[in-house]
Amino acid sequence: MMPMNQDISAHADILPANFYSFTLEDLQAYLKKFGKEKFRAQQIYKWVYESRVSNIDEMSNLSKDFRGELKNILNFDLPPVIKHLVSVDGTQKFLFDVKDGNTVEAVVIPSDDRLTLCISSEIGCNMACKFCFTGKQKLKRRLTADEIVGQFMQVHDSLQKEGLGRRISNIVFMGMGEPLDNSDNVFKSIEVLHSQWGINLSLKKITVSTSGIIPEMYKVAQAKVRLAVSLNAYSDEVRSQVMPINNKYPLKDLLEECKRYYRATGEKITMEYVLLKGITDQVEHAQKLVKLLKDIPCKINLIPFNEHPGSGYERPSDETVQAFHTETMRLGAQTLLRRTMGRDIFAACGQLATKIDHPETMDISNSKIGGTNARSFSHRQPSL
Ligand code: SF4
Repeated sequence: MMPMNQDISAHADILPANFYSFTLEDLQAYLKKFGKEKFRAQQIYKWVYESRVSNIDEMSNLSKDFRGELKNILNFDLPPVIKHLVSVDGTQKFLFDVKDGNTVEAVVIPSDDRLTLCISSEIGCNMACKFCFTGKQKLKRRLTADEIVGQFMQVHDSLQKEGLGRRISNIVFMGMGEPLDNSDNVFKSIEVLHSQWGINLSLKKITVSTSGIIPEMYKVAQAKVRLAVSLNAYSDEVRSQVMPINNKYPLKDLLEECKRYYRATGEKITMEYVLLKGITDQVEHAQKLVKLLKDIPCKINLIPFNEHPGSGYERPSDETVQAFHTETMRLGAQTLLRRTMGRDIFAACGQLATKIDHPETMDISNSKIGGTNARSFSHRQPSL
């Protein structure tokens, strides 16, 4: 075994590494480089994820010498929360500093039986979906696994401090960015979130939502998590108009890949469908949508469009939304129209941004579906 200080200097360019970027296996391999036994990784994992202790000096079952060495090779930094907004409906939005003047957002959505965290995977997004505020900001960078896990930990800790006894029960990768454009880090973070040594969340409670990057989609099945597809159209023509990715991966191929996911997992897919006034919200559109999805085991989540500056689209009236919902149900589709939440703090579907370049709050008192008795979400709807 090499002396500790020799090892550290050999890794001086990467030290200290961020603990939250490590799966248990990775941490074991990392510590091995410094001559440390496997069980050390489990001990540290337990301190951090089970006891929520990240101060090395408080890890009392580690020797004083080891604690000293650890400080040189691991840090436990989380992305700082620079803003925390709470909606009138209980939705909470967290803005994180992810260095170099960049920020990302995560949103907590409460409901009777669950507490869902919507997490970001990228700073900006190259998919350029026309109805999405994030899509207006070109991709600046993909988040690292520790920045993704860090969003969870910060929100978890904040909820614990509130002392209301609520814990995050579900995670949806539906915040800023296209998760399958950052697969390595997203699936690594899922491993940490799921690991019994880590956060120990059930895979069934984790949903990855994609705009339809077909070559990456099967990884969702392999990871055994839930798949949501940001569909938003009933035809290629309309989809290409609102989602440029459809030009590369058209509906026929996308839906084939959805079938493949279902064959591998037996899990229904959530199809997210944003209702844009005059474009995707008419009763005949509902009929075409149900026809399009007739062979796909899925449920449809309807999301009335949420306004953001310069979108060029309008939100349909509550009556139009209801008529669309009723028609899909009449035709036998499993369709959910969830209450819009967090719209007043720009935490609703399509409203997340890398900078606070929109107003922080908005008066939503005139809309029933957009008001406190209504709900929607980030750029996509959680699979619930
Ligand atoms: S909807 Fe999702 S994939 Fe599309 S631009 Fe917005 S963040 Fe990107």
